[in-house]
Amino acid sequence: MNQNLITESNEIAHAGVVIEHLSKSFGSNLVLDDISITVKPGSVTALIGPSGSGKSTLLRCINLLETPDGGTVTVGSQVVTAGRRIPERELLALRRQVGMVFQSFNLFPHFSVLRNVAFPQERILGRSRAEAEERALTLLERVGLKDKAHHHPAQCSGGQQQRIAIVRALALSPRVMLFDEPTSALDPEVGVEVLAVMRELADAGMTMIVVTHEMQFAREVSDHLVVMADGHIVEEGDPAGIMAEPQEERTRRFLNAVL
Ligand code: ADP
Ligand code: MG
Repeated sequence: MNQNLITESNEIAHAGVVIEHLSKSFGSNLVLDDISITVKPGSVTALIGPSGSGKSTLLRCINLLETPDGGTVTVGSQVVTAGRRIPERELLALRRQVGMVFQSFNLFPHFSVLRNVAFPQERILGRSRAEAEERALTLLERVGLKDKAHHHPAQCSGGQQQRIAIVRALALSPRVMLFDEPTSALDPEVGVEVLAVMRELADAGMTMIVVTHEMQFAREVSDHLVVMADGHIVEEGDPAGIMAEPQEERTRRFLNAVL
C-alpha cells in the first residue's frame, strides 16, 4: 500500500485536542476524575488501562456523546465547557470535526456499504447523493473495498466492516479521529488490516486518540501514551519508554497482563 492511500496529507486540516480538568460521574460512580491531556495537532495518543478505567467515557466526552460534569474540552479552536448548554449548531460543528470508530463497527445494517458511507455526508454535510457516493467510492477504493460497495455489512468480514466504519468517518473530513478498541472484536489476522489503515492515517498526519490493547501499535505508531486506571491518569509519556520502564505499579500490572 502506498502512503497517503487513505487521506492525502493536504486534505487534513490539523487540529489538536486539549482536555482540562475533565470530570464525569454516573450517579455516585466517579468515572473520570480531573483528567487533563494535551494531544498535539497531527499526533497520535494511545490510551490504555484496565477495563472500567474510563477510557470509553473519556472518548465519548470529547465529541459529547457524554456530557462532562466539569472541565473543558478544546478541539481545534472550538471550546466546550462543562455546565454550559451547547447550541445544536456547535454540537454539529464539533461532531463534524471529530470522527469516531467503535469496537462494534456500528454500521447501518439495512444500508449497502455505499449508502453507509454516503448517507452521513448527505445528512451532515448536505452533499448531494451523487457527490456523496462518488466520494464514498473513492475512499472505499483506497482501502480495497470498492467491490463491496453494493453489499450489505453482514456480507462483509469484521475487518472489512471496521475499515468501512473508518472510511465512513473519514468521508466527513474530520480533523480528529477517535478509535475505541477498534480491533478488539476482530481475530488478530484481521485486526492487522485495520491497524494498517490506522497506521496510514497516522502517517498522513491525522490527529488521533486510540484506545487499544495493541501494544505493538501503541509503541510503533503513537507519539504519546496515557495509562488510565479508576478514572485517573496513572502515568503518561513516551510509549516505548513507559513500556520498557513503567514507573507505576498499576502500569506494570496492566502491561504484564497484555504484553
Ligand atoms: P473503559 O472503556 O475503560 O472500560 P468505561 O468508560 O466504559 O471504561 O466505563 C467506566 C465506568 O463507567 C465503568 O464503571 C462503567 O460501568 C461506568 N459507565 C460507563 N458508561 C456508563 C453509563 N452510560 N451509565 C452508567 N455507568 C456507566
Ligand atoms: Mg471501553
